[in-house]
Amino acid sequence: MANLSPLQRQYLDRMGVTVWVSRAGAGAGSETKSGGVEPEAENEQWLTLGEEVASCTRCELHRGRTNTVFGVGNQKAGWLVIGEAPGAEEDRRGEPFVGRAGQLLNAMLGAMGLAREEVYIANILKCRPPNNRDPSAPEVAACEGYLKRQIDLIRPALILVLGRIAAHNLLKVETPLGRMRGKPWEWNGIPVVVTYHPAYLLRSPAEKRKAWQDLQLALSLYPGKS
Ligand code: SF4
Repeated sequence: MANLSPLQRQYLDRMGVTVWVSRAGAGAGSETKSGGVEPEAENEQWLTLGEEVASCTRCELHRGRTNTVFGVGNQKAGWLVIGEAPGAEEDRRGEPFVGRAGQLLNAMLGAMGLAREEVYIANILKCRPPNNRDPSAPEVAACEGYLKRQIDLIRPALILVLGRIAAHNLLKVETPLGRMRGKPWEWNGIPVVVTYHPAYLLRSPAEKRKAWQDLQLALSLYPGKS
């Protein structure tokens, strides 16, 4: 188990997970990276991508959206967090993982020694499916290119995937989530760890301990960390 700072232990408490840990300090290794692409060119690519998403009509979900939910955070983050699709609050605010699930995600990140602003957070879909239904295959096919372009620009060191829908659509498998968590996966050479969606953890708090195990796995796999 990684050594935890007092702050990380506070976030674990906020997550609802109590663990006996060493008092030695720790960090999650969130240092940002510099790539080989010129910053101006990269900024231009982000702007273009943002504009494309904001005006996208590639699937029917554009008809019911209030806002597209592009993604938020550090565009040079080592950590990329991927969820499923915007919910009602996200659609209203145009930002992923806000509301109670977002607060729990912030606590999960905090328990790893990461501030929300240090990581990048995005979804498989940029627009809200009606009544929070699962994304359809055509919707994912229409939208996933945007996420791939985001990943190419961010070049994260590790991807943390939240929930079955995001895991299945990113990794193109149909393995039950219970068998996906607890072991490393890979997406185009980037290590991937799968854990429960915070909204599920709010409904099933007994699973938070397993989620913490997954986060520890992610910490252990983060490049440069033991
Ligand atoms: S969900 Fe994606 S593909 Fe569909 S309209 Fe929104 S941005 Fe476009």
